[in-house]
Amino acid sequence: MNKEQEQSLNGKCLCGAVKIVATAKKPGVIACHCDMCRRWSAGPFMALSCQTVTFEGEENIGRIRSSDWAERGFCTKCGSNLFYHIVESDDYQIAAGLFDDQSMLRMSLQVFTDDKPEFYEFANETKKMTGAEVIALFAPPQT
Ligand SMILES: [Zn+2]
Ligand SMILES: [Zn+2]
Repeated sequence: MNKEQEQSLNGKCLCGAVKIVATAKKPGVIACHCDMCRRWSAGPFMALSCQTVTFEGEENIGRIRSSDWAERGFCTKCGSNLFYHIVESDDYQIAAGLFDDQSMLRMSLQVFTDDKPEFYEFANETKKMTGAEVIALFAPPQT
């Protein structure tokens, strides 16, 4: 692990009841176009994969189990979407819009591109993966 690559980032929800200190190894933002993320975020969910995350105001975080393997967090005071979290892991996908300084963030990947509706299109040059490609990457190997 290259320490210099690790970024320490501060963020907060709209009302400030939840504050976040996170470190991310890469500044790459992932945009997810899947149906669930768009319903939850009213648009693609754009998040930064963070390895260590500390929350202040934990009592103001609501958690909804959106699938067998993941939960989504939101501020119970203002409704800001906070994160997508693979349960039983340290990996938090923190909503990119929460960070105070977003100048170092770059969009590096778009996932579930086959679920994206027609009404918008990002001009960013990113890697793109369909839903099937994402599932194949994370599903346990077939034996
Ligand atoms: Zn809030
Ligand atoms: Zn999604």
